Amino acid sequence: MIADIESLRGVTLETLYDTPEGRLIKSCIQCGTCAGSCPHGEYMEYPPRRIIKMMQLGLLDKVFDSDSMLKCVNCYACMSKCPREIHLTEVLLQLIKEQTIMRLPVVPQELQKALENSYRYGNPMGESGRKRINWMQNLDVPVRILSQNSQPVDVLWFVESYPSYHPRGQDTARAIAKIFNRLNVDFAILGNEEKSAGECGMLSWESGLAESLVDYNMAIFTKYKFNQLVTSDPHALDAFLYRYKMFGFKAKVTHVIPFLWQYFDKLKPMLINKLHYSVTYHDSCCLGRHNGYYEEPREILKAIPGIKITEMVHNRSNSICCGGGGGGMWLDTYFKSQNIERLSDNRIKEAIETGADVLAVACPYEMPRFEDALKVAGYDGKMVVKDITELILESMED
Ligand code: SF4
Ligand code: SF4
Repeated sequence: MIADIESLRGVTLETLYDTPEGRLIKSCIQCGTCAGSCPHGEYMEYPPRRIIKMMQLGLLDKVFDSDSMLKCVNCYACMSKCPREIHLTEVLLQLIKEQTIMRLPVVPQELQKALENSYRYGNPMGESGRKRINWMQNLDVPVRILSQNSQPVDVLWFVESYPSYHPRGQDTARAIAKIFNRLNVDFAILGNEEKSAGECGMLSWESGLAESLVDYNMAIFTKYKFNQLVTSDPHALDAFLYRYKMFGFKAKVTHVIPFLWQYFDKLKPMLINKLHYSVTYHDSCCLGRHNGYYEEPREILKAIPGIKITEMVHNRSNSICCGGGGGGMWLDTYFKSQNIERLSDNRIKEAIETGADVLAVACPYEMPRFEDALKVAGYDGKMVVKDITELILESMED
């Protein structure tokens, strides 16, 4: 149940009720399931149910003046549970967030910095665009960069910012490059020409920033011929699948894990090393709840000899967000100031309760969030966080 986002370009809160998506909001029965499903619902003065009520009463100014939507991490939990199938996260909450942030007397510093960095450098970390391919240093497999060889290619791999710059993300990028080579995937990257897809700008209230990144990336895409876009970041997947469509983007897009699932028959015989790990998998909100990829990551993990999967209490559509989406990646200090426990700290306790020794992830935000949460919660050494691609490579390598 995905909204017809293409039709929403230019829609504002004033014109929302004129659209089919807006009319759907009028069907709300005030059941409160959305508020009850929200991982930050108890801290919001105006969770989704109350926002709709305030809309009906013409009192949205009160909502904009509260910080409720600053606490929304775009986890799609409310939307996925709504009995009326109202596209809360995709449509309504985004519009409310934009107004909320515009009226904030002060934008939390960490978030402000990430947004400024994205404007200036094309990535939230503020790293130089020239360093975007540093992850390839000492890599012993070839990776084609399109600006150096612009021949048409099957897969344009959109690496994204965390896999390009964060040390653990870089480990994942190297693993993907090696797996693609082993599978003989015809792939190439944009290298230094790549800039963040801008999903967090879109969902963290900065439509101007988001549109500048969309314009930039769309112009780069037109320079090259490729059959499909594959990205290592589920947030970028969401951006390309839904938001970029508003701007005319039509390419086939997928994430690395569902892409590898298409190669499963070829991949499986290559998984030769037995890994004696008990693994619990954390469903990414964008891959799971938003795009329905629940079984593909699990089936790939199950195919690795020796791995035993144990599920957390909250799994698949009931999974709990790591807190990194919708700008949450840069709001940890803000949440701490509000005495709100980080969602990643909460989630890691659930992962530990399974008794697993590996927490498997498929999103580059989750790696640093959960590694930090392990330290904060005092579980360092009891569990390690690994990207699924790292586990695949470990089972493949000689
Ligand atoms: S879950 Fe849906 S129907 Fe129920 S209160 Fe929330 S928006 Fe309304
Ligand atoms: S998207 Fe997630 S965090 Fe945002 S309101 Fe819905 S349930 Fe809460």
